[in-house]
Amino acid sequence: MTAPRLEVRLDRIHDNARTLVELLAVRGVAVTGVTKAALGSPEIARELLSAGVSSIGDSRIENIERMRQLGLSTEFTLIRSPMISQADRVVAQADVSHNTEIEVIAGLSSAAQRQNRAHGVLLMVELGDLREGILPAQLEYAVRRTLGFPNIVFRGIGTNLACQNGVSPDQENMGVLSSLASSLEATFGLSVGIVSGGNSASLGWALNSPNLGRVNRLRLGESILLGKDPLHGTPVPGLHTDAFSLVGEIVEFQRKPTLPWGQIQQAAFGPPPPRNDRGVISQVIVALGHQDVDPTGLQAPAGLSILGASSDHLILSAGQTRISVGSEVRFQVNYSALLRAMTSPFVAKSFSGGSG
Ligand SMILES: *Cc1c(COP(=O)(O)O)cnc(C)c1O
Repeated sequence: MTAPRLEVRLDRIHDNARTLVELLAVRGVAVTGVTKAALGSPEIARELLSAGVSSIGDSRIENIERMRQLGLSTEFTLIRSPMISQADRVVAQADVSHNTEIEVIAGLSSAAQRQNRAHGVLLMVELGDLREGILPAQLEYAVRRTLGFPNIVFRGIGTNLACQNGVSPDQENMGVLSSLASSLEATFGLSVGIVSGGNSASLGWALNSPNLGRVNRLRLGESILLGKDPLHGTPVPGLHTDAFSLVGEIVEFQRKPTLPWGQIQQAAFGPPPPRNDRGVISQVIVALGHQDVDPTGLQAPAGLSILGASSDHLILSAGQTRISVGSEVRFQVNYSALLRAMTSPFVAKSFSGGSG
């Protein structure tokens, strides 16, 4: 088998998606399955759809284009504000996009008129995390302008929390989103279809809050793929946390001292890691590095501990154990490691357990 390779258990992803879709359906919330951490994998998107997600969201138009080319059919949402330079591609391949800028919506409208199509716009609202979003006081103006553009359909509002500054969803900020939806309806006499209450960080709130207000949609990536609640870094009960694992091959095994010798300056990726003198150890090098994965997001199997990494080498201690060169090591990945491994051309992807 080739190494490094990312092994993907599609059945576990399917289970996670189905569990979340069912738990949230009871609370009146539909799920947009987010594929951006998986490079828009059509294999994964197919599982999400068969598990019941209502649409697929991705931050890159390239990923949406590829999923469509490979025959996936659903509502696709571009969940990053479109680049004006990509307006034609966005209108051609995405049904809906997240927007915060009138100039961008104008560009989408022109493209949609040229293509004789309609394009859905979901306006993102800033609720304190200070990433994308229109300030609540300016939302009414933005909706008025959006409604005036030909071939543009106003689909609803949404917010994104916990990505830039770790602001967590609560009754207060989610309450603001709900009351904005209601006041837009009163002002414009329309119905705000989608009220999208956030990403996986909003899951805890959506499953536990006594009152979800108008929120009827979540956009879930990490919780489906890794079974993790990103707000607390903890596993979500009932979900698989091992749908992905990264396998690397050992290229050196040598008995070496734990302490380096010579004058110590910067290492390739910043200050050298602190080391305690534990005498002579079994030092292992796995052919994996920053070009393949975020090494700080790897969890080594029992008996191995990560000492450091450079572009192409992952250095581990195996204590006093002997391991053969050529054998493989399997790591668990966090979100950052998953994203890097999925997008690295050096990492083979191996899917199993698909429902067909
Ligand atoms: C990445 C992203 C998501 C999904 O986030 P997860 O934490 O992976 O669930 C949702 N919405 C937006 C706007 C995003 O950029």
